[in-house]
Amino acid sequence: MTPVHRDELWIGGAWVPPESSERIGVENPYTEEVFGHVPAGTAEDVNLAVSAARAALPGWADLPAAERGAALGRLHRALAARADEIARTVGLELGTPLKIAKAVQAGLPLTVLAGYAELAAQPWVQETVGNSLVVHEPVGVIGAITPWNYPLHQVIAKVGAALAAGNTVVLKPSEMTPLVAFLLADAAAEADLPPSVFNLVSGTGPVVGAAIARHPDIDMVSFTGSTATGRAISHAAADRVARVSLELGGKSANVILEDADLVKAVKVGVGNAFLNSGQTCTAWTRMLVHRSHYDEAVELAAKTAAGYTLGDPFDAATRLGPLASAGQRDRVRGFIERASARLVAGGLDAPVPATGHFVAPTVFADVDPDSELAQEEIFGPVLSIIGFDSDDEAVAIANNSRYGLAGAVWGSDERALAVARRLRTGAVDVNGGAFNPFAPFGGYKQSGIGRELGAYGLAEFQQVKAIQR
Ligand code: NAD
Repeated sequence: MTPVHRDELWIGGAWVPPESSERIGVENPYTEEVFGHVPAGTAEDVNLAVSAARAALPGWADLPAAERGAALGRLHRALAARADEIARTVGLELGTPLKIAKAVQAGLPLTVLAGYAELAAQPWVQETVGNSLVVHEPVGVIGAITPWNYPLHQVIAKVGAALAAGNTVVLKPSEMTPLVAFLLADAAAEADLPPSVFNLVSGTGPVVGAAIARHPDIDMVSFTGSTATGRAISHAAADRVARVSLELGGKSANVILEDADLVKAVKVGVGNAFLNSGQTCTAWTRMLVHRSHYDEAVELAAKTAAGYTLGDPFDAATRLGPLASAGQRDRVRGFIERASARLVAGGLDAPVPATGHFVAPTVFADVDPDSELAQEEIFGPVLSIIGFDSDDEAVAIANNSRYGLAGAVWGSDERALAVARRLRTGAVDVNGGAFNPFAPFGGYKQSGIGRELGAYGLAEFQQVKAIQR
């Protein structure tokens, strides 16, 4: 495999050498080989990027909407020209099977960015409230910190929205999957985006991430990642009362009512729980099934899980790739080891490919709703099945979580909709309703603060001013 070495940071509209000569290796979680590296940025590199972003802010914020939209349109085209390279890169650094990498890891962010290019071309909202003119303005310099599981999508959800709303950005991608963010910088260079509106500083969380979180000249920190890190970032930003938006973990419930299309609900549910090897914040990791169908659902879920092909992400037959790292695999194995529920598929002894950080797709039945399995975000291919006797009980179990990110309900339309309205989560899919990349996305409770995607995502990066006349 040709190594991918990135030795410079994208700051101020140019590739610049980092302050330190230290590098961070990037591992292929299937071959377990380090195949690339990126600079280990420092607080000094962050300072440089923030100064550049600050200097570029007035020019970008004051640009006519049509010109900002045109610039983002050019960025979208330059990125779209790299769609195959994006899918391949995420396949290499994360292990997402190529077909899913093309559709989701490359396709989704391109769709989202196209939407932001369109929104950027429209003048920002202005409204009259009594004698006030209410205008929307950018927040300022945005620090964006992103995780590894959908490494370009999470970047675009922030960078696309922030730029469309007239802000400038300093991005720190996950140190586990940083390479795809360098493709965005390549696209920014090619698209002739105004210098310094987008800056990229790779590095670790404790060094570059923490420097962004506490930087006095960053107006807002937009973070996606674990709840624990989100809390630390909130604390750092609170010292200077900087705005924070957080997209955090989840433990979503897939509620299958007694009048549901059982086969579809279970099959789609298992697929959702195991998408990206279960490393999906919105994954429906708790399957709640009405007792009248419980045994049938358990059997079908176990059979569906056992039918998934594990293997090389670049092999067309592969449905499930490895987990992102050895650490992640060991963490997931720990949950399985400690579980006290009935194992019906997978588990620690199930066969997995000889190389790669694999965990076999695992299904537990009769899971106690209060147990670790049902409460903690596992972030691996582990599904917990829980029975219920009434819609009220299903709602109570679903809401028995400190998280509230997503979920699903299956049943006759009106009944399912009524249950969906009672779930305390930021999103619910009824009877297989498709993911909508322009609908507001975000969490209730400890799943986060704020919303991403579409017009709601853009509004998150603006503040409002009332001008009285
Ligand atoms: P993580 O919190 O470990 O890391 C996320 C980012 O924060 C990385 O870039 C990391 O370098 C950085 N970071 C780490 N420590 C930091 C610190 N002290 N200060 C500043 N930055 C720091 O999360 P992860 O393991 O990369 O991602 C998995 C988590 O992300 C899961 O919990 C998942 O649910 C969550 N997630 C949430 C969403 C959502 O939209 N709600 C989407 C995807 C993933």
